[in-house]
Order: sequence, then C-alpha cells, then structure tokens
Amino acid sequence: MTEHVPIAEAPRCVAPRCGRSGAPRLARPGAQLCLICQERLDGHLAALPRQYHRSMGALTRSPGKGERIRGGGSSYGIPLHFATVDARAAAESVLSCWAQLVVDERDVAAPRRDVSEMARFLRLHQEWLVAHSAAGELSYEIGALYGRFRALLDADEPRRMSLGACPASECSGTISAALRNEEPGGECSDVRCSDDPEHHWPVGSWGVLRQLRQRTRGAA
Ligand SMILES: [Zn+2]
Ligand SMILES: [Zn+2]
Repeated sequence: MTEHVPIAEAPRCVAPRCGRSGAPRLARPGAQLCLICQERLDGHLAALPRQYHRSMGALTRSPGKGERIRGGGSSYGIPLHFATVDARAAAESVLSCWAQLVVDERDVAAPRRDVSEMARFLRLHQEWLVAHSAAGELSYEIGALYGRFRALLDADEPRRMSLGACPASECSGTISAALRNEEPGGECSDVRCSDDPEHHWPVGSWGVLRQLRQRTRGAA
C-alpha cells in the first residue's frame, strides 16, 4: 500500500465534528477554526446567558413525574432539577476557566464571575481565542454546555415535538417544534436545532423551513 504524503497541508479546523461528512474544513488564516465553527462558537456563547437564565424555571419547579432526563448514558435518568444544578455549576466553572486563560495570557482585567459577563468577555476575546492552540477544546466545551442546556430546556417543555434531522447544511443536530399558547410577552411557537442557535425558525417562518426541508430531502 502506498502512502500519500501531502506536500503542503493547509491547516484544517480543529473543532470536533467539523465537516462531519468529510475532511474538516480549512481553518481561517491565523485561526484554528473555520468560519462556520467560529460562528457556531459565537452563537453558543451568545445563547448561554439566556439558557442559563431560562434554566431557573426548571430549578424552581417542584420535581414530579415526567420530569426526568437521560443523563450521561444512564438508563433511568436523573431528576431535572439536579441536572439543572449540575449544568449551571458547569456553565460557571467552564466559562470562568476560559476567562482565566485569557486573563493570565493577555494580562487583562478579569470579568465578574457571572455567566453573562464571562460569556461577553469571551466573545470580546474571540479572535484571540480561536487562534489559541486550545481553540478546539474551547469549541467542544462550549458546544457541550449549549447542548446540555438545550436538552434541559427541551425536557422542561412537554409540548416539544421532534421533527428529525436539521435541514441546514453541515449540521448534525436535530430539530424540534415547541407549540406554545401564545401569551402576550411570552415566547411564540418555534422550531429549533439541538446544535446551532442560528438554526431557529419562529412560527412566522415555517414556510421557509418547509422549503429547506424539501430541498434537503431532494438532495439526499
Ligand atoms: Zn470547522
Ligand atoms: Zn442545525
């Protein structure tokens, strides 16, 4: 068997699952991530404070039946409020670790130990972070946090309906619809993706989503 040794290998994106159907995409010049994975990281950082805030709802409700989510490969799941406490603690510690890295290596003032402040701080230093040798780990840990809250918040919404694979290109998430009673000031019904906060279709844009799904099916 002959081995092909590439002559000049352009740096590839180090984010986990990048270009899942083939080779990882090319990294942006000077960065460890490709543009798509960097935008996804930014979307996750932008969404985390809101998820953290919304998870308060799951925390303060008294546990009852039907409020269990599957945790870490366990078959019987853990009560939602314990999972929420864990996820919230993880958000605080993961964000503060990465903020600390920036503080130590860039010699800048630390943000307050507050999820919104720390997420904002990391977005502010994002260009530097995606060029760091730990950018792949950052993208993995922040993505995992986002997914963890997504699962919690979905479990907290009994009327959420799974619609299968996300039709956005290069996305390995699944989409689900939440049908909500429209209350003034409340959230409207929407479809969203388990992986990417940008893949979000509020009730008014379901026509677009339908076309996208038809196109994806047609291409498959
Ligand atoms: Zn990538
Ligand atoms: Zn998606």
